[in-house]
Amino acid sequence: MARLVQKFGGAAVAGLERVSAVAEQIKKAWSNNHEVAVVVSAMKGETDRLVSLAQQVMQQPNSREYDVLVSSGEQVSVALLAMALNKIGVPACSLLGHQVRIRTDSSHARAKILSVDTNRVKELLTVKKVPVIAGFQGIDAHEELTTLGRGGSDLTAVALAAALAAETCEVYKDVDGVFTADPLVCGDAALIETVSYEEMMELASSGAKVLQTRAVLFAKNSGVSIHVKSCFNWDRPGTQVVSEDKLMEKAVVSAVTIDKNEAKIGIDRLPDKPGVAAKLFSALTEKEIFVDMIVQNVSSEGNCALAFTVPKDQVEEAYAIVKQLCQEHGWGGVLKDEKVAKVSAIGVGMRTHSGVASQMFQALAEEGINITMIGTSEIRISCLIEEKYAELALRTLHEAFRLGQPNPNKS
Ligand code: ASP
Ligand code: MG
Repeated sequence: MARLVQKFGGAAVAGLERVSAVAEQIKKAWSNNHEVAVVVSAMKGETDRLVSLAQQVMQQPNSREYDVLVSSGEQVSVALLAMALNKIGVPACSLLGHQVRIRTDSSHARAKILSVDTNRVKELLTVKKVPVIAGFQGIDAHEELTTLGRGGSDLTAVALAAALAAETCEVYKDVDGVFTADPLVCGDAALIETVSYEEMMELASSGAKVLQTRAVLFAKNSGVSIHVKSCFNWDRPGTQVVSEDKLMEKAVVSAVTIDKNEAKIGIDRLPDKPGVAAKLFSALTEKEIFVDMIVQNVSSEGNCALAFTVPKDQVEEAYAIVKQLCQEHGWGGVLKDEKVAKVSAIGVGMRTHSGVASQMFQALAEEGINITMIGTSEIRISCLIEEKYAELALRTLHEAFRLGQPNPNKS
């Protein structure tokens, strides 16, 4: 008998038929005498619909009311799933974030989980009931409703698994698991059976939208093992996210990704002296703008040029801040470019192998793809390129690093 957390995403509960299928899947584990705690997202598209309603009322809605609104999607799905479970003879009880007492800080719309009270959940598990817990939501110290940021029910599931010391946290998605590249772009993309937490975090923050980055970080820090599985093909093996020392084989490059969610901002003339970059990036940090890649070139006469990337949905705000600074300090002109894409190669083997960067640049060069920025971590290399080459670049790199599954028709 094991204790499991099973998390079902929006696609898994997209309609009433899907809800019944999920209930049957839970029943299998429950009938095998496992203790199962369930976490659910809102039905597919529902959170987007609620966000859009809020924005129709006002562009920047009050953050407290925003959370009261957008957390309502999960209230619907937990109740429906609990009903579907009870109907097939599995005693279940829905619980909202405040009923479990998932404590968060007060930063509405991106709250951090501080603690999870397991008393009520454990009481249910002890009497063989299935707690069906609303993902994405919690309460702060003043009993105000909070939400954890988009995709946050992954985080709820991982935090609950950690608090319950669950054996594993199964995350059911509309994909079979983590692939060597987006299968819609690379037809021969292969499923990766095990991936390390670090690789998964790099993948999640480089465009592979399988798991929320914060949830993977939480899992790594608390030692929760995550198993990503398909909610359409229950029997497929899926992908296990494990610590690096458990990896059987450390691939130099495990996967390649594209991210079209960043935009570039460039300043063509900045004084080349101490404090300039600090001034610029402090102004961006103050507005919580996430800067990813940064490049600075030496230019002439004591000036330099600087470019950086930010998430597309923050580019207007970042552009306005930079323009203002340029005017105040007599810096050069500002350019923004939204037609860019970031391609990345990720693999833990990069820690010990050299040559990945040169292989990547060579492969892109052979296709005539220009690189405008380069960013790296210990296990990732990213290149910023023109957006129109994104898919070509992904296929080129997937082939260059030989990540595709063997084609049975080729000898
Ligand atoms: N329903 C929320 C969202 O769409 C949380 C989640 O799905 O994880 O972002
Ligand atoms: Mg989701």
